[in-house]
Amino acid sequence: MSHVKFATRDGTPWVPQYIVALDGKKCIGCGRCYKVCAQGVLRLMGVNDEGELVDPFDDDEDIERKIMIIDAAGQCIGCNACIRVCGPRCQTYAPAEVA
Ligand code: SF4
Ligand code: SF4
Repeated sequence: MSHVKFATRDGTPWVPQYIVALDGKKCIGCGRCYKVCAQGVLRLMGVNDEGELVDPFDDDEDIERKIMIIDAAGQCIGCNACIRVCGPRCQTYAPAEVA
């Protein structure tokens, strides 16, 4: 196994670090990472009084807080913009493996 490798424009080797986890316990639901992700990877969710993930805009739910989740991990390009705007630093990254 080895890592997926690319190069920057000047040919410098570059190994993208893709998002693999987002810590919902640390997340404060500010939405900043969502705004900077151009790939549609992230999604804001509500957490109801039973601890279930629900539509954050559903008026019928008793939403206690909001958190970001990884909704489309396969779309991540490994730009790492999301952690640069995240105060609690909720994201974890890893390179992609290839056989
Ligand atoms: S690393 Fe980039 S593409 Fe991946 S989730 Fe974060 S902002 Fe989106
Ligand atoms: S920037 Fe961080 S704290 Fe804010 S919603 Fe994203 S993961 Fe949560």
